[in-house]
Amino acid sequence: MEEVRMGGGANNIFRRKSKKVKNSWKKEEMKKKEGLFVKRLLKYEALPDYMKDNEFILDHYRCEWPLKHAFLSVFSLHNETLNVWTHLGGFMVFFILTVLSFMETTTSEFQGFSFGFFFSRSHLAPLMMPNNSALSQDLKVTHGQQVLIFDTKRVSGKEEIPRWPCFVFVVGAMGCLVCSSLSHLLACHSRRFNLFFWRLDYAGISLMIVSSFVPPIYYAFYCHPNFRSLYLTSITVLGIFAIITLLAPGLSTARFRYFRASLFLAMGFSGVIPATHAVVLHWGHKPIFISLAYELVMAVFYATGVGFYVSRIPERWKPGAFDIAGHSHQIFHVFVVAGALTHYAATLVIMDWRMGSPMC
Ligand SMILES: [Zn+2]
Repeated sequence: MEEVRMGGGANNIFRRKSKKVKNSWKKEEMKKKEGLFVKRLLKYEALPDYMKDNEFILDHYRCEWPLKHAFLSVFSLHNETLNVWTHLGGFMVFFILTVLSFMETTTSEFQGFSFGFFFSRSHLAPLMMPNNSALSQDLKVTHGQQVLIFDTKRVSGKEEIPRWPCFVFVVGAMGCLVCSSLSHLLACHSRRFNLFFWRLDYAGISLMIVSSFVPPIYYAFYCHPNFRSLYLTSITVLGIFAIITLLAPGLSTARFRYFRASLFLAMGFSGVIPATHAVVLHWGHKPIFISLAYELVMAVFYATGVGFYVSRIPERWKPGAFDIAGHSHQIFHVFVVAGALTHYAATLVIMDWRMGSPMC
């Protein structure tokens, strides 16, 4: 009986508390309707359950802000500002690289600065040429002309190697980065938005992983269409499986952080199989090893990023100290962008190598 009574008392306190919370939400709703919305940042404990994701970030939460205010908060300081900008910055870098790449394709005037600041493709050109290729004559030209030969895709007029697989990755990466930025910006609007945007974010990550497989597999297995189809189909099926799995609303919660991280890592590391196969197939080709070295750096970047994502370091060491800047998710974002750029470098190396040896 005593227990029942105690239970009843606890229930009453809980009911009173939840009534209080409900009332404060109602007041907030009224203010919104009256156009009197105040851009107030909340503490973790004041958040509704569906917004509680990281208990080590204690303050500066936007909660159920009207859409317009949530959108414009990209220019104000809260605990998602740097999460938005780290990926928005990555999106801009990829956008600029794509524009430069198009300019490079259409005119040779931009060769001087195009990818040079990031990684020089032209200095790799001699490495990518087969020793007794018909191209060796073509290579006895100036630095600028070499780039022109690669970019016009016509190698001794024999075969054209398409550039689209490279753009599949760039578009996939940009799509993922923009989805992530939008999710961090707008998920605070409502429960419905929260659910929708986090699932969009996970779909974006899956899309980027699948699209990043396209260029290396396409170019490495250019002369082995069966293997090329097998690997591309496998990663696409894996990506679709990941997206369908992550569409389950329950899997968007904090409890499944490890599960999501493992799923993405498994997708990424499944690339070890085609990579090993490509090395065996093209043993002795220096660009394959250069590309592989970039991919290993990429794997280290991604794995380190995921390590921060699941461990929630450093905020777990000093809760509240990294609310605005320096928390694990921001560090994870920076590693994702670094990994994607490194993969882009690997992609350009293998694409240039294939353009230099287009005959099977
Ligand atoms: Zn994120």
